[in-house]
Amino acid sequence: MKFVFFGAPGAGKGTMAARAAEAFGLPHISTGEIFRGAMREGTPLGLRVKAVIESGGLVSDELTIGLVRERLAKPDAAKGWLLDGFPRTMAQAEALVSFCPEDHVIDLEVSDAKVLERLSGRRMCRGCGRSFHTVFMPPKKPDVCDDCGGELYIRNDDSVDSVRTRLENYRVQTSPLEAYYRKRGTLVPVDGEGSADEVWSVLRGVMERLIAGEKA
Ligand code: AMP
Repeated sequence: MKFVFFGAPGAGKGTMAARAAEAFGLPHISTGEIFRGAMREGTPLGLRVKAVIESGGLVSDELTIGLVRERLAKPDAAKGWLLDGFPRTMAQAEALVSFCPEDHVIDLEVSDAKVLERLSGRRMCRGCGRSFHTVFMPPKKPDVCDDCGGELYIRNDDSVDSVRTRLENYRVQTSPLEAYYRKRGTLVPVDGEGSADEVWSVLRGVMERLIAGEKA
């Protein structure tokens, strides 16, 4: 089954998609993580997108759509996938429908206040990309990833200026997709305001029902 994880920066898309990937055995495809991996390794893709990502802007549709299209063509994506951070523009949503339409869009609903609170304490693992939060999801050992022992760092685009730009981009370019998906009948709203465990316990049930419905 094919799921898009949708919501504002800080809504919990990455955290929930990672848990869902483990629970349901589907590949977690995060465009942000693909870009960050390329930046870490200094590949041509990484060098190309670094400035725009660090300023909080969006990578071009052409590049991002091409990348996702290639990724979804890989064998592990044949049984389904969890897309996190894509689509972010109407052009991306329409492209996805044209080459590999989603079954459901998990819309993680959170208030602006919650988004700011989450982004301001976010820490990411350099090794595996898992995210933590200094208050809401602290690692067992400070600045060390529970999963892989990697070093935790603050994303450059979590700085105050970049966060402002990202929220503005979300409001203008991404939030209109909600109406688009509602019209397509694939939007599944989920309250994303609680703790990671609270949101996951609701989301898990929602996804189990959707997957069972497919098999029935
Ligand atoms: P994320 O980890 O999803 O917050 O993504 C981090 C950054 O990567 C975003 O702020 C954008 O600069 C870039 N990015 C990720 N996904 C996309 C996308 N679908 N379209 C354009 N830029 C993206």
